[in-house]
Amino acid sequence: MIWYPYEQLKTMKTPYKIIDAEGVYLYTEDAKLIDSVSSWWSVIHGYKNPVLNNAIIEQTEKFAHVMLGGLTHDPVQNLSDKLAEWLPGDLDYCFFSDSGSVGVEVSLKMALQYYVNKGDLKRTKVLALTHAYHGDTFKAMEVGDDEDYHFILEAYGEKKDCIHIPTEIPALEEAFRKYHEELNCFIVEPLLQGAGGMRMYDVSFLRRARELCDEYGVLLIFDEVATGFGRTGNRFVADLVLPDILVLGKALTGGYIGHAVTVANHKVFNGFWSDAPEKALMHGPTFMGNALACSVALKSIELFENGNYMERIKHIEEVTKREMGGFSAPGIKEIRIMGGCVCIEVYDSGDIKGYQQFAYERGVFSRPFLNYMYAMVPYVINDEQLLKVLNTMKEWFAK
Ligand SMILES: *Cc1c(COP(=O)(O)O)cnc(C)c1O
Repeated sequence: MIWYPYEQLKTMKTPYKIIDAEGVYLYTEDAKLIDSVSSWWSVIHGYKNPVLNNAIIEQTEKFAHVMLGGLTHDPVQNLSDKLAEWLPGDLDYCFFSDSGSVGVEVSLKMALQYYVNKGDLKRTKVLALTHAYHGDTFKAMEVGDDEDYHFILEAYGEKKDCIHIPTEIPALEEAFRKYHEELNCFIVEPLLQGAGGMRMYDVSFLRRARELCDEYGVLLIFDEVATGFGRTGNRFVADLVLPDILVLGKALTGGYIGHAVTVANHKVFNGFWSDAPEKALMHGPTFMGNALACSVALKSIELFENGNYMERIKHIEEVTKREMGGFSAPGIKEIRIMGGCVCIEVYDSGDIKGYQQFAYERGVFSRPFLNYMYAMVPYVINDEQLLKVLNTMKEWFAK
């Protein structure tokens, strides 16, 4: 039997069974649904994209996978060259892994070891945000701030190695004043905190964080697993404020194959460059740099670059703002919109219970959680499809 994610299997409702998918649509036996979730925000080009399909087919005919231990190949070399050239600043060193959570683990390991390699053993703490989500593995859970992981707190008590602050500059300054000698890094989901409730904040917070990190010699990590590839209306938030380490995942492969990359700048990389074997980064996922994943990621980036995606995302944002502007209903606390993300937060999670089935019956797949009803649509969506997604959300409150 399948153990489904984030569910109490005893009470969960039967998942919809998908038998085909194309463009923005998912097909079940009896329904055609616009995927307003983009399969956890990853399928930015839609399903069954011929270019992406082809990238995989062509690579499969050579080899699907070889390990990166002692071996290398064109797809992984071309992707790392492309990322080094395409990403801002001197984010040039690409460490590949198989999922966002692992990509985050690698970034946190890099930050800690960067200081240990220098002989600085005091910097064992991480600064992070309240409501942060960085993945489901243990260190990622620790730097995250998700009440759903309450069992960890029960088992281990309060966290000792991670400090959480809200996205407010005074709290940020206070934390740096108090803890700067013990911090190795500050990790954030920049501008948009996804799984913590689609919370949006201002770039001025990140600019101040960059200044403080420079002043106190703390590494800045952007977890752009969710925000990367245009979701906030910026190609990467790293285009606005440059981190020392950038983590990408989800949309990296256009949602085709799980893969992630942790990209370090020269300063971080140089902290590992040495004749001493113990200063090497000790990490190596079996499937890192998988040839199918790298091939499809390269094509996904090509589509993103050549398909006017930033314009598309801007248009999605404009239509969303126009349609949601002035909309309100009893029970709604706030409507937040940024780039290709819209979220309706309600006061009472009971108010959106049943929305998934309501949307299904109207031809939209949605997966609200806690107090948040949201859409993060594939960027290839057309106006009619986008209006259907937004109107379905509005209709729920009008019913
Ligand atoms: C989804 C997500 C992760 C975890 O990625 P997985 O591929 O699910 O392990 C990490 N950070 C952020 C910001 C995410 O949205």
